[in-house]
Amino acid sequence: MSTAREKTPAEQLMTPVQFVRGVGPQRAEMLERLKVRTARDVLFFFPRDYQDLSEVTPISELKEGEATTISGVVDEIELRSTGPGRSMLGVLIRQENQFIRLVWFNQPYMQQRVSQGMRVLVSGSPTLNGFRWEMRHPRLEKIHEQQDSPAGRVLPVYPLTEGVNQGQMQKIVHGVVSEYATLVDEVFPTDYLGQHNLSPIQTALPQLHKPDSVESLEHARYRFVYQELLVLQLALAIRRQRLTQSQLAPQLTATGKIDARIKRLFPFELTDDQKQAIEEIGNDLGRSYPMNRLLQGDVGTGKTVIAEYAMLLTVAHGSQAVLMAPTEILARQHAETLQRDLAESRVRIAMLTGSQTAKQRRDVLAAAASGEVDIIIGTHALSNALNKEVESGGLTMPKLGLVIIDEQHKFGVQQRAMLKQAGVDPHYLVMTATPIPRTVSMTMFGDLDVSTLKQGPPGRQPVNSYLIPDEKRDSWWEFFCKKIREGRQGFVVAPLVQEAGDESVVSTDELFETLSNGPLEDFKVELLHGRLSAVEKNEIMDQFRRGKIQVLVATSVIEVGVDVPNATVMAIESAERFGLAQLHQLRGRICRGQHPGFLGLFSGEAGETTLERLTAFSTTSDGFELAELDFKIRGPGDLLGTQQHGMPPMRIADLIRDTEILETARHDAQQIVAADPELDDKEFEKLKRMVMVRYGSALELGDVG
Ligand code: ADP
Ligand code: MG
Repeated sequence: MSTAREKTPAEQLMTPVQFVRGVGPQRAEMLERLKVRTARDVLFFFPRDYQDLSEVTPISELKEGEATTISGVVDEIELRSTGPGRSMLGVLIRQENQFIRLVWFNQPYMQQRVSQGMRVLVSGSPTLNGFRWEMRHPRLEKIHEQQDSPAGRVLPVYPLTEGVNQGQMQKIVHGVVSEYATLVDEVFPTDYLGQHNLSPIQTALPQLHKPDSVESLEHARYRFVYQELLVLQLALAIRRQRLTQSQLAPQLTATGKIDARIKRLFPFELTDDQKQAIEEIGNDLGRSYPMNRLLQGDVGTGKTVIAEYAMLLTVAHGSQAVLMAPTEILARQHAETLQRDLAESRVRIAMLTGSQTAKQRRDVLAAAASGEVDIIIGTHALSNALNKEVESGGLTMPKLGLVIIDEQHKFGVQQRAMLKQAGVDPHYLVMTATPIPRTVSMTMFGDLDVSTLKQGPPGRQPVNSYLIPDEKRDSWWEFFCKKIREGRQGFVVAPLVQEAGDESVVSTDELFETLSNGPLEDFKVELLHGRLSAVEKNEIMDQFRRGKIQVLVATSVIEVGVDVPNATVMAIESAERFGLAQLHQLRGRICRGQHPGFLGLFSGEAGETTLERLTAFSTTSDGFELAELDFKIRGPGDLLGTQQHGMPPMRIADLIRDTEILETARHDAQQIVAADPELDDKEFEKLKRMVMVRYGSALELGDVG
């Protein structure tokens, strides 16, 4: 027999799962669905959660009314009817020779979650009922533990796929960990591990999959989170360092004279936050490499004027600027504001929109290309035009110095790169009313600098928000009409244009019908929604702005930016259909003048979480607080728009939880790159490779070394 060459550790790690002990072809197929293909994949198949059995309380130590977690085995299940449509479910849990009774009222379906003999983890507040402990409506989880494991105290919970249960998955992973973990190569230099309190990979892997304790798990997890974030921050630091050296942006210095000349144009005194943001932006624009800045500020805090300032500073230096808004209505509003403030000046502004005729469009493009136009305002679609040749209808701006994007925080790194014109890199400012957690702006959006407007202009009126129960509907509409009669204007918002089968959701069509033939029949009411042509929408908005229309029935097309100070009342139907950030945006439409705003929310559904969310909304007026709440309830998905920013998703780091580790990793990455800009030092070779493999193409860092 010929002796095969010993396989290297790297080769062994590439063993297909099929050949891993305890897997086999059938399970391998199932694991394939989880993209787990090799022994190495199994090692890096991280648990999605853990069950902590180390802190469970013995029943003998329970204290009345004190929230706690216990574990035990389901001993008895009893479902009783207590009246028409009412029930009581009792589940007796045994812990050695002690018992506790769990009780659920009117939740008969909970019965399906338990079965006799099942091991469960229960959290809630116990009470003593006679001599028997009881817990009402506790949180209940099945304990996932492989039968034959030596009672692990902290149990991993893996993502699963059909055909593999938690116990089997634990077994597979544990098998692979004991056989292969020692083969994994360490990417960090040994000194580095010690200096940064990182657990070596060969210890960290087993602790992640079968922790000895919560502490050792945290220590192991720290290593992986740190590594993931450090790799990202190194990539960003390298990129930033290269950009500042190679990218040439026009230097637009805010001299005292220019600064004063621009500020004189504004019809109001700037708030302190606005002044601060303007200073930060002025500093950025004065450098010879591109600004990358996010301006965030709640609705109505006055972001537009900052955009104006930046554009005028650009124009003062003979460069061109582009402002993109999410809708044509908003683009038009921005153009009007600018035209108002610039009535006396020679700055040339043009709009580029979908509703223009071919001829109008051609003229604007020609004027932009010849440099006759200083500022172009349009919708986000402009960013596509900026990538095309003039001949094919593209927008060319030979002196493009600044690109501003309003209300579109999802604009990613790659999209930004495409805005480049003729070898010059424009400065870049993105504005948003959706507060972006610092972790996200530092990661997913490629490390933007951030300016924040916290306080709105003085004299702003609050919006009073009410969640209105059905029986108060009539009196709400009476109140609404009273405000309109006093001369105010109003919005009525619904999530859909037309009925779409689901009766619980209200549509604007149906609302318009019932309102204009009912409570609002005395007023001039119009419909506004996304299916109207741009020309129609503009016409309606124009009439609304001029007070010719008293009430607009609309979809969330009015969500962003619309600024009509006289509009102060709003009703939102099927409010549960909107995210909190979106509701807050909508509410922002009615606090723009000197009169207080009033918002009535109607919910088509009365579930507990819905009411909780909407109540939280109606009692909180801070958009940042709400965004955080939404972020926690709905997860980061919505906010990140994972597809759009073009960055690979995080595998283990949690952008809500791991802020501190992120700050550390960022600081460390900056130090490393400051000393060794391209990570050429031999000891960082493996780390560099990891950086390139993961972010080389997303961040245009070049080929894998
Ligand atoms: P947003 O941040 O939501 O884009 P806008 O820029 O549209 O807010 O500003 C909201 C309103 O506040 C506008 O009518 C604007 O003219 C006004 N405004 C902005 N800054 C000030 C200020 N410093 N003093 C008074 N009014 C201001
Ligand atoms: Mg705005």
